[in-house]
Amino acid sequence: MRTRLGAAVIGGGIAGATAALALAEIGARVEVYEAKARTAIEGGSVTLGPSAMTALDQVGVGERIRAVGFPVVEARMVNTVTGREDRVSWCEPGHQWSSTHVWRRDLLAVLRDRLDRVSVRTHYGTAVTAREVTAELVVGAEGARSETRRLLGNSIPLRFTGQVIRYGHHPGPLPGLPRHVLHFWIHPYGVVGYVGDDRDGSFWFSRHTADAPTDPIDLARMLHPLCTTPAAAVLDVSDVSDQFALYELDPRGIWNNSDTVLTGDAAHAVSPAAGRGATSAIEDAIVLARSLRHFGSIAAGLDAYTAIRRPLASATYRSPRHHRPPRPTADDLALSVDR
Ligand SMILES: Cc1cc2nc3c(=O)[nH]c(=O)nc-3n(C[C@H](O)[C@H](O)[C@H](O)COP(=O)(O)OP(=O)(O)OC[C@H]3O[C@@H](n4cnc5c(N)ncnc54)[C@H](O)[C@@H]3O)c2cc1C
Repeated sequence: MRTRLGAAVIGGGIAGATAALALAEIGARVEVYEAKARTAIEGGSVTLGPSAMTALDQVGVGERIRAVGFPVVEARMVNTVTGREDRVSWCEPGHQWSSTHVWRRDLLAVLRDRLDRVSVRTHYGTAVTAREVTAELVVGAEGARSETRRLLGNSIPLRFTGQVIRYGHHPGPLPGLPRHVLHFWIHPYGVVGYVGDDRDGSFWFSRHTADAPTDPIDLARMLHPLCTTPAAAVLDVSDVSDQFALYELDPRGIWNNSDTVLTGDAAHAVSPAAGRGATSAIEDAIVLARSLRHFGSIAAGLDAYTAIRRPLASATYRSPRHHRPPRPTADDLALSVDR
């Protein structure tokens, strides 16, 4: 393929920023269009899986993200109805780093600083469609409500998961629970969870069933399942988010044509219950760049990307409880095809 591929990335969130970095890494000329201002406030946090940390190393930001976040090494689940307890390691064989919990605003700041450093021009406050940009390659990374997806002819609708979420933060860690472990308490109406760190404090969430996306669930009702956990100690003194409805997108529709492709939630959105949306978006970025580098034409590279990524997205989308879908290895996420 030509050495200076010209690419336009629509969306400068986690998927778009990492796709732009990975494309720049293989020598492409990239411009990013992001609808929001650079100073827009990004709330909440994400836990990135070990494969995401491997991928972020490939685009030169892994160390910075580990420095602004903290490691998560295990998940402990308690079913409050049956009493069943499970533990799952949040490290993965073959990947050097454990999962990492990071504020969304810090993750985006690190990615966007890196875009500046590698001279990727990013147009903030600029909403565009795939019809409005001219480039050999267009990457649609505008999230679950992607217009590029519609323009590609993919009419699969977003589906309400039947759950809403609120999350909260308190600057101090919780006494009585181990740090760097994600705790989940499953109850008849959803799940509550907690993870904490000495420096960054306590992060908790409550996911609750709802009849409709706009169905307001009383705050006390949503927080009630946390009141019987050690997180109860910080609930009254936490910053609490608004209520958000959770959606998912079946990954079976069209992902690419000969010059346009979808990445991240634009192609395959999953509920936070899967804990994989941001991780998958970051994996997409590396596989996209790697496929383009490896194949002789953009069209063949995009077909290869879809062929590699769709089965993993499908397995994540409908994975049975307690079943860990297949994950890419470190070799799958090496930007150099010779590795
Ligand atoms: C409460 C919650 C908790 C989560 N926790 C986790 C977790 O712990 N681990 C995990 O892996 N995942 C998690 N996820 C999922 C994860 O947040 C998403 O999968 C991820 O943010 C998807 O990134 P994205 O860049 O594809 O989409 P988005 O984050 O939606 O970003 C899309 C970007 O495109 C921009 N944009 C939209 N339209 C246009 C346009 N026309 N022109 C230019 N720009 C445009 C938007 O402004 C936005 O910046 C969670 C999700 C939620 C809701």
